[in-house]
Amino acid sequence: MQDLIAEAGKCVNCGFCESVCPTLPAAGFISTKGARGRVDLAKFLYNKGEIDPSESFYSCVDCYACLSVCPAGVNAGKVSEIGRMIVAEQGKAPEIAKMIVEFTMKFKNPLGVREKCAEWASGIEFGSKETLLYTGNMYQLMAYLRKFGSIRKLLGHYDSAIAHIMREHPSFTTMFRDLYDRSMMGRMSDYLRNIVKLLKQNGIEFGYLGKEEPYPGTFIYDLGFENEFREYAKYVSELFRSHGVRRIITIDPHTYEILKYIYPKYVNFEFDVIYYMDMIKIDRVAGKYAVHAPCHFSRYFDFTGYVSKIFDAYTEENPTRCCGGPDELLFPEISERISQKRFEELKSTGYPIVTACPICYANLAKDDSVMDISELLLKSK
Ligand code: SF4
Ligand code: SF4
Repeated sequence: MQDLIAEAGKCVNCGFCESVCPTLPAAGFISTKGARGRVDLAKFLYNKGEIDPSESFYSCVDCYACLSVCPAGVNAGKVSEIGRMIVAEQGKAPEIAKMIVEFTMKFKNPLGVREKCAEWASGIEFGSKETLLYTGNMYQLMAYLRKFGSIRKLLGHYDSAIAHIMREHPSFTTMFRDLYDRSMMGRMSDYLRNIVKLLKQNGIEFGYLGKEEPYPGTFIYDLGFENEFREYAKYVSELFRSHGVRRIITIDPHTYEILKYIYPKYVNFEFDVIYYMDMIKIDRVAGKYAVHAPCHFSRYFDFTGYVSKIFDAYTEENPTRCCGGPDELLFPEISERISQKRFEELKSTGYPIVTACPICYANLAKDDSVMDISELLLKSK
């Protein structure tokens, strides 16, 4: 609560943040689903107001676009993150969030499909795990989320009831195993194999945990379950240690961020975390591309500038434009409106669209003009 007061208490109520918050128009301009509304609710919450702020905090996509325009330096995304921790601590998190956290704790994968997530690597030879390729199951899970998105459109408001039943009977997850989008899984497997090829072409030796590879626990943290996250991060770091891992190659922004910046706040994490593009030699690729910079990379470096070294990138003034992905689980309609708008913006440039995040890819791949950056990197060889 002290952190919430420190962050939200700086607000001078100017409303600038509303002009960039992607969830506000996507939610039909309901103010509590916009940046200023979230900060107002936080103030109300710590002033002991009787209120349920969960929809407001859980609908934030954590893009941090609000921070870039706030004259008082308030990060409404951070306010929402802290708010979710308070809501979860009070046991008021949405049923689907509780289900995802419980499954991840139990199966080390949000859907209990860890073994399936290793199939892309069939036939590939790996070396010592001292340097570990860690996919975090992220690319693979997008094929499941794509399928669930279409099923949820049929289920509508029964979501919570189903999540409640699933929590009571976690063994039902066995039915998820083959419930994925075949075409998306094919593309995601190709991208993972591209990355292996790029690393091998650069003479890098690395291992892979295969069916033992756990999801990194990002959902647990993002949904506000701090105590569970601490326990989960301890499990993952001990698993790395038991395999003699020293260096971890990450391949997506969410896994990179959580291992490099969040894990060390909760557990002993002595591993060297690297992004794969920083390990390979890249020559320039011909052609111009519209780059969708993942929000979670833009927090740490100028991603568009980074890829401009590889190809001519169409650039934007404000790189923090969300793909809508983080709302896919709890607010699919908001997610769909944000991703459609973002896709149309990128498409209007007339250039092929490039992403470097499996979540962005899954949300923006509305036609064949969208590709993962690994496809371009292979062309540079
Ligand atoms: S831009 Fe900053 S100061 Fe202005 S309303 Fe938003 S959070 Fe408050
Ligand atoms: S982080 Fe993004 S979605 Fe959340 S309040 Fe800020 S601008 Fe809105």
